[in-house]
Amino acid sequence: MDSTEKLIRESNKYLMNTYRRFPVVVQTGNGCVVRDVDGKEYIDFISGLGVLGLGHSPSSVVKAIKEQAGKLLHISNLFHSLPQIELAKMLVEYSFPGKVFFCNSGAEANETAIKLARKYSREKFGFERFEIICMENSFHGRTLATLAATGQEKFHKGFEPLPHGFKHVPFNDIVSLERAIGSQTCAIILEPIQGEGGVIPADSDYMRSVREICNKNNILLILDEVQVGLGRTGRLFAYQHYDIKPDILSLGKALGGGLPLGAIIAKEDIAEVFTPGSHGSTFGGNPVSCAAGVAYMRSLLKEGVLDHCATISEYFLDTLLRLKNKYRFIRSVRGMGLILAMELDFEADMVVEMAMKEGVLINCTQERILRFLPPLIINRDDIDLLYEVLDGIFNRIEGKGYR
Ligand code: PLP
Repeated sequence: MDSTEKLIRESNKYLMNTYRRFPVVVQTGNGCVVRDVDGKEYIDFISGLGVLGLGHSPSSVVKAIKEQAGKLLHISNLFHSLPQIELAKMLVEYSFPGKVFFCNSGAEANETAIKLARKYSREKFGFERFEIICMENSFHGRTLATLAATGQEKFHKGFEPLPHGFKHVPFNDIVSLERAIGSQTCAIILEPIQGEGGVIPADSDYMRSVREICNKNNILLILDEVQVGLGRTGRLFAYQHYDIKPDILSLGKALGGGLPLGAIIAKEDIAEVFTPGSHGSTFGGNPVSCAAGVAYMRSLLKEGVLDHCATISEYFLDTLLRLKNKYRFIRSVRGMGLILAMELDFEADMVVEMAMKEGVLINCTQERILRFLPPLIINRDDIDLLYEVLDGIFNRIEGKGYR
């Protein structure tokens, strides 16, 4: 086996420089632990950026993948296939009456949602109606349209001109939202919890008012649950905390149990405007990814994972709050279920790096925010270890006056 240094040199030589990667070459993963090529173990509080709800290589998902791979690896969407039917049925049964379109990623799901909203609105209300109202500080993906929907200029830079027809308003501000609505508005897109934006949940009153405004003005509500759907918040879908339903729901990340898969669910009358040829994706709804998704959903629903997530998240939040009470440079701790954040008053990169050296993988977003997206099966011992590691790091930072 080549040394880690050599592997990283080759990685940097042959792969585009689009990610700031940890200097770690991960070789295997099991549950909440990954192991690098030198055999060093890390507890993973990132879980593939919120993908691995059941942790690394859960046996139920691996079994389903092996079985399906032996039967049918790929078949074009010119045919029906069993895993697609099964997963679509599960998604609809556990969300709202509607229909599913499968694709490969979160961005592709949002792209699909945007196209569907435009087509629906134009067919129903005419050509004038195409604009999507989006939130400042949001994140919806890296394709050109989803970048245009994303409310953070730093992601736009260098890629202009972006598609037009997207307007941004401050998140959790109902007055600005109402003011932005015009005759061109066809949809509102928002994340129930802004993940990349720093783990900022929508207020309950706000979400309910958004739904009412959409109803009143015949505007579609698109909820982007790519990061927070499928168990992350302790319920199957994040919107279920708010007692409302979207018109279109976009999903990704955890949906394929670790394999690439995205989807939207749209209410039936909206879904109907997609007809053969309207939209498509060669790999969308790949049989192996869908079989993995079915296994993931079954485990989530039948093995008490959602309840565990809801309970353990309280312990996790308390643990983070204990640290907040100890260190004045922790500005806030927040989140829902197992998407949690700790906002520092200095850049958090250093903390991420120090934690990694001590065998704990955490993520930083928006420069000063530590984001925790562990597998939903994380346990108290893992959280206690995170506490020990962060406590030690914060202690050193405080003592040395790094800030
Ligand atoms: N939407 C949200 C809320 C996300 O968090 C992400 C990715 O982080 C995306 C969309 C894009 O998903 P993907 O990277 O699978 O295209």
